Amino acid sequence: PSSQAAAVDTRAIQALDAAHYLHPFTDPKGINQRGARVIVSGQGIYLWDSEGKRLLDGMSGLWCMNVGYGRTRIADAVYAQMQQLPFYNSFFQTTNVPAVQLAAKLVEISPPQFNHVFFTSSGSEGNDTIVRMVRRYWDIKGQPERHVIISRHNAYHGSTMAGGSLGGMSGIHEQGGLPIPGIVHIGQPYYVEGGRGQSEEEFGLTAASWLEQKILEVGADKVAAFIGEPVQGAGGVIIPPATYWPEIQRICDKYGILLVTDEVICGFGRLGHWFGCEHFGVKPDLMTFAKGVTSGYVPLGGVLVGDRVAQALIEEGGEFNHGFTYSGHPVACAAALENIRIIEEEGLVQRVREDIGPYLQQRFATLADHPLVGSAESCGFVAGLNLVKKKAEKVHDCEPFDATLDVGMICRGHMFSNGMIMRAVGDRMIIAPPLTMTHAEIDEMIALIRLCLDKTL
Ligand code: PLP
Repeated sequence: PSSQAAAVDTRAIQALDAAHYLHPFTDPKGINQRGARVIVSGQGIYLWDSEGKRLLDGMSGLWCMNVGYGRTRIADAVYAQMQQLPFYNSFFQTTNVPAVQLAAKLVEISPPQFNHVFFTSSGSEGNDTIVRMVRRYWDIKGQPERHVIISRHNAYHGSTMAGGSLGGMSGIHEQGGLPIPGIVHIGQPYYVEGGRGQSEEEFGLTAASWLEQKILEVGADKVAAFIGEPVQGAGGVIIPPATYWPEIQRICDKYGILLVTDEVICGFGRLGHWFGCEHFGVKPDLMTFAKGVTSGYVPLGGVLVGDRVAQALIEEGGEFNHGFTYSGHPVACAAALENIRIIEEEGLVQRVREDIGPYLQQRFATLADHPLVGSAESCGFVAGLNLVKKKAEKVHDCEPFDATLDVGMICRGHMFSNGMIMRAVGDRMIIAPPLTMTHAEIDEMIALIRLCLDKTL
């Protein structure tokens, strides 16, 4: 794959990039000075840039490349579908074969309460759909005053008006008038941040109790739904204590509130199950998915709709005035079907649960002895560590870095220079590698991370 590098004039591409391309979530001035790194090809867990340098992609692109790069089978499926029928909409009493087959497949692999699917092209659109769908549900049920959705600080649910509002990122809320009305936030279940003086189990119950407090503050008859990522991804791989999600479920059930899990990162094997809710033993009413459904080969997202909501929409709701031109796009659905076939044939979900997941967790935990590492946490095939200025025996006694230093970005810079992609979120360094990794590749990655931590010291 690195041979493609020869065909690219890096400086020319960087100049055009700086002149014309406004990148998402990027300070344009920052990128203009350095020049963006031009990624030209990928194979397995590796990427190559336009100068022929190889990078181990510890982030699966952007949490999506579950089956790894270079899957010609997906390319072939996409090509065949493009020739057969590149597009037709599924509005107005028409449908298409890949969309129907994918809906049936998603129902087959998801928990039993899910029998219906609504398609979008991204996770953000999926979460916009959630906002409209849960409010529509309560309208149909004759309780239109139930329109408030509770989410969490530091959650990421996308970047559209509704997705960015559901998310709890202050940087997003500061720009463009978010959050929209009727969305409120509670604290995140981050033990390192909030659990001083409590065991992890106690803290899980404390963090869940914030939901009940918020419900009582808003008024139980006004709350439509609670939404959360099973493991918060973009917020820094925040893995809740085992007591958290069952307690969240109990509180939602007590007040009759819809429970939504955002499975955009945690779905399709990331936590060793098809969906992350299964790892934590919760039964959501709705689930958002995207990313891993196609392993990012083609954009696709959607909402799995549980029977409680589906029955109301279908039996009592009439037309739901919502949808996108590309809902159920046949090419995207063909890519997803082939991607899911690969996950099944290679047993990647089980592999994460029983083989490479436990191996990564054991190897990642060894990083906790590094002088820069306050704690190293992992779950399934995601992991995060927090960088500290001064280590202590207990995680809550570690001395944090001054936020202005941006130690994460310094560490990330060393990673990049040494051929490793690891993401920095404040002082947390995180990974979510492809689910195809071998033990040897995990060893290589852990060694690279340790090397770059040494360089950051
Ligand atoms: N939800 C979660 C949990 C995500 O991590 C993301 C993206 O990272 C989204 C939603 C938004 O998905 P998209 O970028 O496809 O709109």
